Amino acid sequence: MKIAVAKGDGIGPEIMSAVLKIFDANKVPLEYEVVDMGKWVFDKGFSNGMTPEAQQTIERLGVLFKGPMETPKGKGVKSVNVTARKTWNTYANKRVFQTLHGVDTVFSKAGIPIDITVVRENIEDTYGGIEHMLTQDVALSRRFITRPGSLQVIRYAFEMARQKKARRITCSHKANIMKITDGLFLDCFYEVAKEYPELKADDVIVDDLCMKLVTRPDTFDVVVLTNLQGDIVSDLCAGLVGGLGFAPSANIGDHICIFEAVHGTAPDIAGKNIANPTALLLSGFAMLRHLGLTENAAVIENALLYTLEQGVHTGDFGDKSKPSLNTTEFADAIISNF
Ligand code: ATP
Ligand code: MG
Repeated sequence: MKIAVAKGDGIGPEIMSAVLKIFDANKVPLEYEVVDMGKWVFDKGFSNGMTPEAQQTIERLGVLFKGPMETPKGKGVKSVNVTARKTWNTYANKRVFQTLHGVDTVFSKAGIPIDITVVRENIEDTYGGIEHMLTQDVALSRRFITRPGSLQVIRYAFEMARQKKARRITCSHKANIMKITDGLFLDCFYEVAKEYPELKADDVIVDDLCMKLVTRPDTFDVVVLTNLQGDIVSDLCAGLVGGLGFAPSANIGDHICIFEAVHGTAPDIAGKNIANPTALLLSGFAMLRHLGLTENAAVIENALLYTLEQGVHTGDFGDKSKPSLNTTEFADAIISNF
């Protein structure tokens, strides 16, 4: 089986090498076609951040394992990450946030387990980047929420919640203020909810959700949101389980799926071989399961969990009184625990 791999910018190549080394050591039956994509490709004059060959390869293989990519600076320039999601209509972004033993947080210390899946709408909302100056002093931004777009991501969330036998599925929104746009999203949620009577479906206003997430995160299971609110809430959830180093994500489309970490290119630590590869590795497990390689996913996941439980850590988390490992050493520690 073949997949496309884009190493990305910043810490991307370092964490991707670490994860692929772990996969190879576990004899994961995958072949990788490395594609040219990212800020460095944009700089070569490809305005969507990928070469035509890269695009063809990804479309042929259907699965992209992707490192973080830097957003080129400047007006009118689009993020490579956002372009990729739009090009292939990956309408749902699934992000799983789980307590990991060995990754101390205020909640793990208090014995409060966290297992939250955020499903973020991935294409619409303010991400069209349609904004302009109305006058010299007035800036205007447009926000698109469509019925088909909302139904598609909400259906995905319900189907996933059904499969994982979720306790609860929550729609979060700001329909009290954005009555028409978020109102439409919320209407779609309750429309779909009727098809899933076995699931407890409810909604909560997004500011209230943030307050509840930081006080009782264990009361939430699946949360579905529009694009921008989903972006913000998912970083909040990453913080609940130990930071960006532990937040995986899957961009789901009908033809193409992209697996990547939630975090960015971490320019402050790039090139030093000290980044934490866990978020990309967790995204890799989702990809292996998507490809039916459940056995490999389970073995590597167990090795990761065991490694974390032993207190092995990179510089961004864990017991600061114990020495931290660099990216390569951390990967080797996981491999030694297969
Ligand atoms: P970008 O514009 O690409 O998102 P950024 O400057 O916002 O870049 P992020 O990648 O979002 O940076 O990271 C935010 C902070 O979290 C940085 O201080 C970074 O070093 C840290 N960080 C992010 N990912 C990791 C990781 N995998 N391992 C260690 N630290 C990380
Ligand atoms: Mg960032």
